[in-house]
Amino acid sequence: MYKSLKPILEQELAAAKENGTYKVERVLESPQGREITVGGKKYLNFCANNYLGLSGTELMEKASEEAVKKWGYGLASVRFICGTQTIHKDLERSVAELVGTEDAVLYSSCFMANVGLFQTFFTDQDAIISDELNHASIIDAVRLTKSERHVFKHMDMNDLESKLQETRSKRLKVIATDGVFSMDGDIAPLKEICDLADKYEALVMVDDAHAVGVMGKNGGGTPEECGVADRVDFVTGTFGKALGGAGGAFTATRKEAADYLRNRSRTYLFSNSLDTAVTGASLWLIDYLKSHPEYRERLWANTKLFRELMKKNGFTVSDAQHPITPIMLGDEKKAVEMAKALFDEGIYVIGFAFPVVPKGKARIRVQVSAAHTKEDIEKAVEKFTLVGKRFGVV
Ligand SMILES: *Cc1c(COP(=O)(O)O)cnc(C)c1O
Repeated sequence: MYKSLKPILEQELAAAKENGTYKVERVLESPQGREITVGGKKYLNFCANNYLGLSGTELMEKASEEAVKKWGYGLASVRFICGTQTIHKDLERSVAELVGTEDAVLYSSCFMANVGLFQTFFTDQDAIISDELNHASIIDAVRLTKSERHVFKHMDMNDLESKLQETRSKRLKVIATDGVFSMDGDIAPLKEICDLADKYEALVMVDDAHAVGVMGKNGGGTPEECGVADRVDFVTGTFGKALGGAGGAFTATRKEAADYLRNRSRTYLFSNSLDTAVTGASLWLIDYLKSHPEYRERLWANTKLFRELMKKNGFTVSDAQHPITPIMLGDEKKAVEMAKALFDEGIYVIGFAFPVVPKGKARIRVQVSAAHTKEDIEKAVEKFTLVGKRFGVV
């Protein structure tokens, strides 16, 4: 009886519209890229996770086309029945090499990788210790376990240590953290986390969705960046952000742990094989990037330029070293309205306010891409300054 549900939904949706949390999806009439078309008008795009600028390119189109031609459209099977092709095994090896682990296991999304991780390894005898700003997929994944749950203050190593002390008697302890946090672009102190993990015999899990392909000399992510690739036990990551942007994901881990996931992880076992377009194209891309460091170099040059120009023009830019660049405004209304005004000026950015970010920490989040030209960056700064003056921010 839909009749019973309908009024509840209507009330909830009306409340969301009232308090400003109702989400409206902007419809793109073009591929993803530095420039997108919305409502027949072109906008410079500064809010995609398209860090290397590869999403929407002919390169990815061709790589996926070739994969589909050779391997077919899809497998109509899970991996362990008859859904494993050569490309799946090759991609798993390739990811493991990129991240610096012994093996990797493919998932349809990083959300599913996270959900399929904790409940597979951790029971009611164990404890999971999670950063308070971890991604929703980690939070939900942890809820699906029977393990004891502890939350430590964001990147606070003293608080983490006290949680490790509290859970000393548990069979297993695992520290779970995002590698890069999506709202601030700040990077988890993995060296310190691994040191504490050693001291208290805990495992370390890093969700590196915003960092694989981006951070580290070879794009191996935050463990490579922090010099702890051999000390992190589980790394989850996505092909849906820097690495092409279509979707698909992985858990990179140690040999036995990967073997165990293939045998027990429910979101792996009972979900279709990763599609051939994504599998083949991701495999091609990881190899291609080995001899094309210029994508990452351009990304970092653009990030540096944008941050410098924004600071020079009087904006408050957080110090995090990531293409995620939050422009701090504080005032909730200002953040949302300024983002709207920037959109009218042809710059697509998103304003984030409470409850997505803490009260008083409203911001516009800018995401820089390797696809942006120097002129794009300069234009964005010029429009920010124009609109910022109008709003009394600079
Ligand atoms: C984007 C993101 C995910 C989800 O990745 P999908 O592959 O799109 O499911 C998971 N964790 C973090 C930290 C993310 O930023």
